[in-house]
Amino acid sequence: MRIFDPHIHMTSRTTDDYQAMYAAGVRAVVEPSFWLGQPRTSPASFFDYFDALLGWEPFRAAQYGIAHHCTLALNPKEAGDPRCLPVLDELPRYLLKDGVVAVGEIGYDSMTPAEDNALATQLRLAAEHGLPAMVHTPHRDKLTGLRRTIDVVRESSLDPGLVLLDHLNETTVKEAKESGSWLGFSIYPDTKMDEDRMVAVLKEYGTEQVLVNSAADWGRSDPLKTRRTADAMLKAGFTEDDVDLVLWRNPVAFYGQSGRLVLDVARPETLHEGNSILRGGE
Ligand SMILES: [Zn+2]
Repeated sequence: MRIFDPHIHMTSRTTDDYQAMYAAGVRAVVEPSFWLGQPRTSPASFFDYFDALLGWEPFRAAQYGIAHHCTLALNPKEAGDPRCLPVLDELPRYLLKDGVVAVGEIGYDSMTPAEDNALATQLRLAAEHGLPAMVHTPHRDKLTGLRRTIDVVRESSLDPGLVLLDHLNETTVKEAKESGSWLGFSIYPDTKMDEDRMVAVLKEYGTEQVLVNSAADWGRSDPLKTRRTADAMLKAGFTEDDVDLVLWRNPVAFYGQSGRLVLDVARPETLHEGNSILRGGE
């Protein structure tokens, strides 16, 4: 079984996770830039983080045989902080970089005017750079948030086929599907979606344009939720080909629209900027 986790924050995860993910079949990941919990006080902190997602983390992932790409953006949670807004001015030069396969995560957290502005601006940047957009839908007041998100996408110059609406659930999947965008589901250990609910959604709405991710980060989460969903699908009567479509071919097709996916990963023998992850090593 080959698995592509289209939304996971490996910066917050350990090497044990990388090992377990590889053993479970994960061969590729996309790491969206996001809120790190501790508020950032200057754009420079974002740029160091973006550089880590483009350099250090792919290097680390490659040690475990996993291809790593990222999506970059000013995240919704910090889009209202005037100290962070200059990130939007610098983002275009980052969007030119090879490892960037989408603009993201963007979208709504509390649905403020500042978030409206950041979302519209970044959808425009995605369109200008020929990149897809990875859009986080809010965890509270989900349906209102989804509708407002779909409206902003419709008003933007970005084709809905280049948009992934993430963190969907039973209340939002229908309208999200009707919008023509790709459908993302984050599977969590004890809140929001779980793998059995995911299987039920797949039975009702089909497997087309559906992506399943673990969204594992610094909170309670499980980087093997992709594999657990695949196993739950098989147990429920889906075929190996259905699993391959949802867990591999759909994310490849969505992020492949960037023209930048490289899925063969050579285990690096070189150093990353003079440093090895082997302590005292080589
Ligand atoms: Zn995330």
